[in-house]
Amino acid sequence: TDALAVSARSAPLGSRLVLLLVEDLTEARRIEAVRRDFVANVSHELKTPAGALSLLSEAVLDAADDPEAVTRFAGRMQIEATRLTNLVQELIDLSRVQDNDPLTHAEPVEVGELISEAVDRCRQQASSKQITMVVGGTPGLTVWGHRSQLAAALGNLVENAVNYSPAHTRVAIAAAVVPGRGGEQIEISVTDQGVGIPESDRDRIFERFYRVDPARSRATGGTGLGLAIVKHVAASHGGEVLVWSSEGQGSTFTLRLPEPGSARERHRSARRRR
Ligand code: ADP
Repeated sequence: TDALAVSARSAPLGSRLVLLLVEDLTEARRIEAVRRDFVANVSHELKTPAGALSLLSEAVLDAADDPEAVTRFAGRMQIEATRLTNLVQELIDLSRVQDNDPLTHAEPVEVGELISEAVDRCRQQASSKQITMVVGGTPGLTVWGHRSQLAAALGNLVENAVNYSPAHTRVAIAAAVVPGRGGEQIEISVTDQGVGIPESDRDRIFERFYRVDPARSRATGGTGLGLAIVKHVAASHGGEVLVWSSEGQGSTFTLRLPEPGSARERHRSARRRR
């Protein structure tokens, strides 16, 4: 593409248009390939628990006179059914965050409330692994955006921190105001002492269905969609999500959002331009 860009600048108008057309076609092909991959991934991910449920129900029928086996199979059916439900819910969440402009329903959202909600969502799982959750940072901060989308994003980060950490560790969640491009920004960071993420995978974990360790992800009820949702929510709110990680030591995911005054103003002027 660099070579294309250079030759496009020096070429006469006619060939420049041809080059633009070629670039457009390449982009269209890329989008089509991503869409095809996504559909293939969704089908595979849905077929796995559905197939397991079908086999397990046959096993239950065959073991009708062995109550112990029936209980065992029923337990596994429950796990597969939960996996199927999680996947469908995350697919719905993902299509919602992709299709809707969250800022048409924006309101001031208290960061403290988002954090409590995320912590509550993971409390049971954290306590079963004896993981301590610590909330700190600057109190009383507000962001501007779509409440439930922001809650889903932060919830996913905290859930991952708990899922990918061993027992008896700490998950720390903190909010702060930091200087950034175009004014102040609000940062919400989630730090764990978990398995960490190899450097070669760090760019890819935000892709839909990408997992560093698929078996581990499935074992913890993961769908591979959580971080794709977080990335979309951050971007559509004019922010970003950053990751810092050290293998075997832990990770920090930071959700960075524009300060509410500037976010609201940017949204208003975007509306005026439309
Ligand atoms: P999943 O449902 O598999 O957790 P995500 O999209 O939320 O999917 O995350 C993608 C992958 O990134 C995970 O499968 C895991 O390998 C890795 N990952 C995410 N968060 C963490 C974390 N806090 N620590 C270590 N690995 C993580």
